[in-house]
Amino acid sequence: MAGDRRALARAITLAESTRPEDREPAELLMSALSTKTATTLRIGIAGAPGVGKSTLIEVLGLHAIGKGHRLAVLAVDPSSPMSGGSILGDKTRMTELSKANAAFIRPSPAAGRLGGVARRTSEAMRLCEAAGYDCVIVETVGLGQSETAIADQVDLVLLLVPPGGGDELQGIKRGIMETADIIAVTKADGAMAVEAGRTAADYQHALRLMRPASGSWVPLARTCSALTGAGIPELWSEIERFARDVGPEAIARRRAEQAVRHLSAEIEDELKARLAAAGLAERLAQFETDVAKGRLTPRAAARALVAELTGPVSQPSRKS
Ligand code: GDP
Repeated sequence: MAGDRRALARAITLAESTRPEDREPAELLMSALSTKTATTLRIGIAGAPGVGKSTLIEVLGLHAIGKGHRLAVLAVDPSSPMSGGSILGDKTRMTELSKANAAFIRPSPAAGRLGGVARRTSEAMRLCEAAGYDCVIVETVGLGQSETAIADQVDLVLLLVPPGGGDELQGIKRGIMETADIIAVTKADGAMAVEAGRTAADYQHALRLMRPASGSWVPLARTCSALTGAGIPELWSEIERFARDVGPEAIARRRAEQAVRHLSAEIEDELKARLAAAGLAERLAQFETDVAKGRLTPRAAARALVAELTGPVSQPSRKS
């Protein structure tokens, strides 16, 4: 809480640890943090590899710091369990930002399943906030479910798209449009500037059709260039306007709802860990095969498996 970056880094490492002996100290640490609603903003930045996420975060982050914010950047790479390696971790990224005193950059944690990523992300965010970072950016590769997963972690989703996505726009996944609060068309410079403007207008139009104005925030599309800096102050202003318009109460409510959803993921994790500890990992695998082949219903399999762990439960009442 004194702002010691090495202590913060170690705290996050402890929270991320999967070693059983780290579990209790990690939980103690997390419960020692203040739970009062802090005035922080959690921004999720999603987009396909190469769209310009890290370049933008560097420039946008420096702009935010210039405005007096303290910024933490967490890279999340939910794809790593599948690909076996980190897409985000192995680049030299955000070199200026990483030198800034008011910034803290945390690369992607080790591979894990999505539920685990969700927990580690929220704990890392809370630790950063406790260390005095009032803005946290969570960066994620926008592949498949990750950009909808990010919406469950943050207050605001900023989706980055490349210029000239006219054809892609036709087939753009609804989920992306439904979770993005701001869409930024990147690389709006040089030969691509005009195209980027057109793309932003297309997205703006699509947003208006898909998400009629409701609540306190109307999603919008903008252009920006991390290369020339065009649109960067405007993008940051929109982010600040979001925080103002939505307001701390609605943000706190959203976080509370997220926490409740995370509880289900935690219960699943806990249960699976207990199954493994009880030597039932193979039984789980076997049940998965049975369910896949249609030999058992998921419900029957779940009941049987949990019964093996805890002993039989009372029978459900007869079918009516
Ligand atoms: P990420 O994979 O989404 O993090 O993308 P990067 O930030 O690594 O950028 C991918 C490529 O796009 C790099 O070669 C960048 O130099 C380039 N790039 C990023 N932002 C801009 C921009 O604003 N304008 C132009 N022209 N190129 C950019």
